[in-house]
Amino acid sequence: MKTPIVVKIGGSTLGSHDTTMEDLVALQKEGRTLVVVHGGANIVSEWLSRQGIPTRFENGLRVTDRQTLDVVAAVLCGLVNKELVSAIQSLGGRAIGLSGIDGGFIEARIKDADLGYVGEVVKVNPEPIEAVVKGGYIPIIAPLGLAAKGEKLNVNGDPAAGDIAAALGAERLVFLTDVPGILDSSGKLLPRLSADEASSLIGSGVVSGGMIPKVEACLRALSTVPVTQIVDGREPHALLKALSGKGDGTTIVSTGGVE
Ligand code: ADP
Ligand code: MG
Repeated sequence: MKTPIVVKIGGSTLGSHDTTMEDLVALQKEGRTLVVVHGGANIVSEWLSRQGIPTRFENGLRVTDRQTLDVVAAVLCGLVNKELVSAIQSLGGRAIGLSGIDGGFIEARIKDADLGYVGEVVKVNPEPIEAVVKGGYIPIIAPLGLAAKGEKLNVNGDPAAGDIAAALGAERLVFLTDVPGILDSSGKLLPRLSADEASSLIGSGVVSGGMIPKVEACLRALSTVPVTQIVDGREPHALLKALSGKGDGTTIVSTGGVE
């Protein structure tokens, strides 16, 4: 299998005007190997509120009781995942949707009892993803994990993407999100960071909320993945630009040196 590019599509950038699906199809036609992990936080919150279930986040992680877990699973696997797969198929690409539960490829355990059914990744088994890739499809992954007891768990898409990239030995990990990249305390874009610099931004509180799991995922992935990027998924063709090196956003590399 060619070394893949792992792309995390943020919940807040999923929308009808997004060019990410076109980019994925174009890259697939060029023969690039792609693996996509998606979020869907906003859509999950919308469906929870329709059911009268309140939403609460702690450090960017959704507090997940049993009722919330069922809505998370239904919306991410049933709705968001299938919309992404249909968009790619209708653009002439080839995609198969799966969750981390399928083939048991994301093994997870409860992260913190106070957060409820939130999983942290224990292990990624790459075989099911590799099988989909070898078949010529882009795996579109909904971030749910399977606990040892057979329980499904809500796994944040950011660490899932980071651990999948590490397990597959990806050549690159790209986060598409709803900000221009990592911003400093005055709101200015930080185009290039070493792992140490990125880590100290979490320590100082400049990186907060939903940006924390992204930066942590980049730092973990950097043990095997040479380049990690956090870019603005609202920009047209953000993914193509990120891969061509012409885009903006933040690149985090393990040494801070040249790619
Ligand atoms: P996604 O759906 O892409 O996971 P999140 O809302 O979870 O999006 O995470 C991105 C958010 O992180 C941004 O919208 C922003 O509010 C927040 N954030 C916190 N600290 C920073 C920072 N230093 N630079 C940029 N964004 C930040
Ligand atoms: Mg998020």
